[in-house]
Amino acid sequence: MTEKVDTLINNSLIVTMDKSKAVIPRGYVAIRDGKIVDVGSGDGTLRYKAEEVVRVKHGVVTPGFICVHTHLYGILLTGSPWFAHIEPPSDFQQNLQRIWWALDESLTYEDIYISALLGSIMLARTGTTFFKDLLDAPNAVENSLDYIAKAAEEVGIKGFSGFSVTQRRSIEEGYQGLKENERFVKKSWSDPNSKVKGIFTVHASFTVTDDILIKTKELAEKYGTIYALHVEEGLIDVYHSIERYGKRPIERMNDIGFLSPKLIAVHVVQAIDDELKLLKQHDVKIAHNPMSNMINGVGVPPVPKMWEMGLTVGLGNDGYVMDVFDNMRSAYLIHKVAQKDPRVTDVVKIVEMATSDAARVLGIDDRVGSIEVGKDADITIISPEFVHTPLDERTVYGHLVNTFTGNDVWGVLVNGSWVVKERKLVNVDTEKVMEYAHKVIDKLWDRMISMEPKYKIEYLKP
Ligand SMILES: [Zn+2]
Repeated sequence: MTEKVDTLINNSLIVTMDKSKAVIPRGYVAIRDGKIVDVGSGDGTLRYKAEEVVRVKHGVVTPGFICVHTHLYGILLTGSPWFAHIEPPSDFQQNLQRIWWALDESLTYEDIYISALLGSIMLARTGTTFFKDLLDAPNAVENSLDYIAKAAEEVGIKGFSGFSVTQRRSIEEGYQGLKENERFVKKSWSDPNSKVKGIFTVHASFTVTDDILIKTKELAEKYGTIYALHVEEGLIDVYHSIERYGKRPIERMNDIGFLSPKLIAVHVVQAIDDELKLLKQHDVKIAHNPMSNMINGVGVPPVPKMWEMGLTVGLGNDGYVMDVFDNMRSAYLIHKVAQKDPRVTDVVKIVEMATSDAARVLGIDDRVGSIEVGKDADITIISPEFVHTPLDERTVYGHLVNTFTGNDVWGVLVNGSWVVKERKLVNVDTEKVMEYAHKVIDKLWDRMISMEPKYKIEYLKP
């Protein structure tokens, strides 16, 4: 007797990322109604009659990768002539002032939509099925998160979206951002069909008052969502907090009751041991963005120590390189360099950071992050055209971290539906998107170039 299913991925090397980290050398995944209904060893066609049987050459099947922190609008900066227009920033605060804030203050709704469309394509194409995005767009606040959701849903991937609340220019703008977050949370969670759900996000402790932090946590509790902010990315965060409050940022957040298991602390580069202990006490989750830390030159967060302490760390890209394989490789290497010790990272832990641990960071591990019965059928199928050493259950983690790239992704399923198939986006015409997007981006760059770069630091308003 064969049971009916919608899709059967057969004859593949399956990296389940379940609790035991089981790898099935030659097995199948059966999918029905958007869920994984069976995972097993051997030939799945002997048990299941499927609408579609998928078998790819050298096929490696993983859970859809999860990006715990991005800014989809960040990709608008790639190759921008703006970099030649400014004096190069010498530290993190100048980086914000001269690059990121110049960009985010120039964003229109069209730019937001286009960047989210491009970003979602780039994530999907390279195997990521779920993201958490923070939008900074102080001149396009109201309804802005609808544009992120629309774009991601057109591509077919899932995510969390929040407006990055800041008061760097005025106290009032913080409350406008908070209002946008609450609006989108209410709208998205009440719509069972929406793939992108709202969360409460704040830029960083040095650009908001205590009141914004307290209200953010209250609202996150009221609606049952996670909440997130950048924590101690650069030294400015630490200096500002000590100057204003006489304590370091994580101590300040602890004192106002802001820390909780639902908080995602992004970066945590500069934290001292006492602060890490506070994060552990409250089971705060960490978003690690190694490639962003490198390009911004902010330092290396103590991730191996965080693991030793039992903190949960997920992998993000911070709006820089969207390919998860590049980000995994960077996370694998950066700590070895920083600690001058090649033992501090291993390939299995790195893949966990982009799958099962990432799901825990975002509080969605009951639904995604591993290939297990009952979970959403969010699945990435990798099919490299060339592999230089044997590809099997012994070597697959090594290849995932050291060999594969986003170009090796053959297919991506989200809720059991194809988003990428035969290396092509299924739901959008990427040629058309490119043609339209490049025109919009050229206009954005022209607008930026017509502005005077700001060299006076004005970030300490609150
Ligand atoms: Zn960020």
